[in-house]
Amino acid sequence: MTSTATTHAAAAPEADHPHPAPVPAPVGSAQPAADPGDPAGRRVLTGDRPTGPLHLGHYFGTLRNRVGLQRQGAELFVVVADYQVITDRDIADRLAEHTENLVIDYLATGLDPDRATIFAHSAVPALNQLLLPFLSLVTVAELNRNPTVKDEIAHSRQSAVSGLMFTYPVHQAADILFCKADLVPVGQDQLPHLEVARTVARRFNERYGAGIFPQPRALLSSAPLLPGTDGTKMSKSRGNAIALAADADETARLVRAARTDAERRITYDPAGRPGVAALVLLAALCQDRTPEQVAEEIGDGGAAALKRTVTEAVNEHLRPIRARRAELATDRGHIRRVLRTGAERANTVADATLTEVRAAMGAVGSA
Ligand code: ATP
Ligand code: MG
Repeated sequence: MTSTATTHAAAAPEADHPHPAPVPAPVGSAQPAADPGDPAGRRVLTGDRPTGPLHLGHYFGTLRNRVGLQRQGAELFVVVADYQVITDRDIADRLAEHTENLVIDYLATGLDPDRATIFAHSAVPALNQLLLPFLSLVTVAELNRNPTVKDEIAHSRQSAVSGLMFTYPVHQAADILFCKADLVPVGQDQLPHLEVARTVARRFNERYGAGIFPQPRALLSSAPLLPGTDGTKMSKSRGNAIALAADADETARLVRAARTDAERRITYDPAGRPGVAALVLLAALCQDRTPEQVAEEIGDGGAAALKRTVTEAVNEHLRPIRARRAELATDRGHIRRVLRTGAERANTVADATLTEVRAAMGAVGSA
């Protein structure tokens, strides 16, 4: 383990966010909007698909909340959701490279591998085995209704929809419940999946008369659905993202190509002017100001002035993260060790939960 990379990763949060991202109350369609309470002692699960580099949507949508919770004493489990890559494509392209880059992004933004359990879910067999009993707890009609799955099918690059696409929210319930997480910092698209996890937890407990699983709650940030350069949800797979790893010139190019309109007066109107509003919001998040303040300052400067402001704001905000990223990327051995250590810890936790589940079901051969 190289000490440079470790030291920098561990030191990141305080250096990076003098004003730590606020950790708002958990929200969600049918979820109690109760105060999250003291994060110390809470178990938190989050994760990302290794489909490409993390972007500003991840950063403002969930990463800052993760780091904030870690700083406040929560125990973090972070899953690299590798089996989920093949929900909407035939092959998991460059899987090892994307997985390692995800971990580099985590460490660069401030996750501390000594405190957080970072693992790929394909490395934790007992977690995946939970999928079988969990699938029996949901109906096909419920799986069919999931609005996020419908949206992803609409954007999928496959001509036919696989069984995994319909069932991955239940797999995600296993990701959350294997470690009995009670808090899940996510973007808005994940709220229907959180409902699935809550349903699975409740039904398992009821059906088997066992109080094994807590009810996990979503934790949304103040930017739960950051739009990309085309005004729709910023996504790794949609060609509309600004990656944390992009350099300053690439950022300028991406912002220049963003969809705006011909009106000179810059306003913040997400419904009427989604492209302009996406850029205004991005600058505001990076500068820790309100979108209205940013729009007011640019005034009649038009799209060109807006794009200059956004480029400068993003590059300035990401400068320290990008520098740490570049340093971490020089030691892939360290990144792989982080994943191995995380998998060991996650396997211990998953084995214990699966043993409880088997016992609750009365499975022969259970310990
Ligand atoms: P893909 O296009 O491959 O699905 P993605 O960009 O949607 O990639 P995911 O790995 O699916 O990223 O999502 C990981 C986490 O980041 C989830 O909690 C998701 O809600 C959050 N997230 C992703 N995009 C955004 C966004 N634009 N705004 C806020 N949160 C986001
Ligand atoms: Mg996604």
